Amino acid sequence: MKRFQLLILALAAFATLQAGADYDVYLLIGQSNCAGRGPMISSDTTDVIPGVYLLNNKGKVEEAIAPLNRYSNIRKDMKVQGIGLGMGFGDKMHRWTNRKVLLVQNARGGSSVRSWTPGAADGYADSAIVRARQALRFGRLKAIVWHQGETDTQMGMTTGEYVERFAKLIAYLRENLNAPDVPVVVGEIGQWEWTPMRDINRFNDTTLVEVCKAVPNCSKVSSDRLPRRFRDKPRDPHFSRQAGIELGERYAREVLPKVSSAYIAPYRDNKRAAISFTYDDGLMEHYTMVAPELEKRGFRGTFWVIGNMVGVNDTVSPRLTWDKVREMHERGHEMSSHSWSHPHLTRLSKDSLLREILMNDSAIERATGAVPRTFCYPYNESNDLVLKLTRNGRVGTRTHQVGHGQQNNKTTPDKLSAWLRDVIDQGEWGVTMTHGITRGYDKWYHPEVLWNFYDEVKAREDSLWVATFAEVAAYRTERDNTLLKVSCGHRGMTVKAKYYADKRLFHELLTLVFTLPDNVGDVRATQGGKPLTVIRQGNTARLNFEPWGKKVKIKW
Ligand SMILES: [Zn+2]
Repeated sequence: MKRFQLLILALAAFATLQAGADYDVYLLIGQSNCAGRGPMISSDTTDVIPGVYLLNNKGKVEEAIAPLNRYSNIRKDMKVQGIGLGMGFGDKMHRWTNRKVLLVQNARGGSSVRSWTPGAADGYADSAIVRARQALRFGRLKAIVWHQGETDTQMGMTTGEYVERFAKLIAYLRENLNAPDVPVVVGEIGQWEWTPMRDINRFNDTTLVEVCKAVPNCSKVSSDRLPRRFRDKPRDPHFSRQAGIELGERYAREVLPKVSSAYIAPYRDNKRAAISFTYDDGLMEHYTMVAPELEKRGFRGTFWVIGNMVGVNDTVSPRLTWDKVREMHERGHEMSSHSWSHPHLTRLSKDSLLREILMNDSAIERATGAVPRTFCYPYNESNDLVLKLTRNGRVGTRTHQVGHGQQNNKTTPDKLSAWLRDVIDQGEWGVTMTHGITRGYDKWYHPEVLWNFYDEVKAREDSLWVATFAEVAAYRTERDNTLLKVSCGHRGMTVKAKYYADKRLFHELLTLVFTLPDNVGDVRATQGGKPLTVIRQGNTARLNFEPWGKKVKIKW
């Protein structure tokens, strides 16, 4: 079945390109979290989202400006429309496919799936069909995005009724939009106790799973750890602005492989998630204990060095010497900056701040020959000025991390395993922060717990890209700033990348994933005449290429 679907998708992709359809059309329907209830900021109402378009109430295409549910013919009052999943979804679909994305957003706050069932008095299915048909004059329907369920969860609707009604709705939409195989993606509702938790869990873990079994070509995205809009209103089911955007990105990641014949993988080698191990404060134990343990497993870490502490034989925790910094760099670890003297950067004048940054950069460059391409904030403190000055000339700075240590963070093997599972499930970039190993700040009473954790990570390497902070940061930026132009033929495809990052700083190879037609023999690829390694997995294949380089030519 899977092979058959992929073939259909591949053929559909060829057909679309040949027909020259201008827009990729997405139908976004459901209730309030689809409409968007996240608070807007002033730029939302003035800035267009590049590459994303809305179908307006005159049936025309216009550039997308929030709120994206503005033209829904069944929406509630304009005043309540805000930021929802459409913004993150549209933005990422455009960046990742380099196609013009036309959103037909037609959500209705508070609506039950009963109102969406064909034949219902509310007629929401027909309202959506009217607008989607107008949009189909401008392109092909690529996916149906559905986010709904809060109302029915509160009303106590059974799984059986929900599945039956939803399956009818999708069959009706597919038939009336002449898109029998169009992918459907559903999403989980918020996971804080706005209604009894067991009801939320039943909807997310049972009803939506059953929905995806009943409806062909349907999949679901998770709402894990997406925060609510109001801190002081725990009974409100709405996601925050940022959570809405993130939820939209999760939808985009789910939709991408279903609609694109060639796309850039979320992480190197099409791994599902990434991990960077990072170590603070330049301790000698990082050389004597951590580096060998990482290297044994083929990993490399990122070590944040404090220039004026290098060589200090601190009785609590002795520091690295410049010789060791150089040696670790030569062994492939990232030796990067944690400022010159570890002050509270937010309390410094601009001049002192620059001195902290530049002195450490030059000291590390003198030792290793490489200017640090990343930065880690002492005490994890920053403000706008600190962010601005430290980001200049870098691929990334550490603004999210999870503390791994037993003294302060009380890390246990269970906590480590749960964190790892989460990172993989969510397709995230997990960044660890470790200080002392057997001594000093947040030390480990049992360092073997940490080494065992590295084994656990190693065992999941099929899903994980373990790389330095600089490598993952650069990959992500390049991925989101490279647009692909894909031309397909019967004997192969050509992929031309438009690369918007600064090549002097960003030079990670990106992974291209592409769909193969059925029964192809040998697949070969070259870039600028040089052969590329092609790795096949069923009816898809992947290769690593230079996004700043010449066309990638793939032949089969
Ligand atoms: Zn520190």
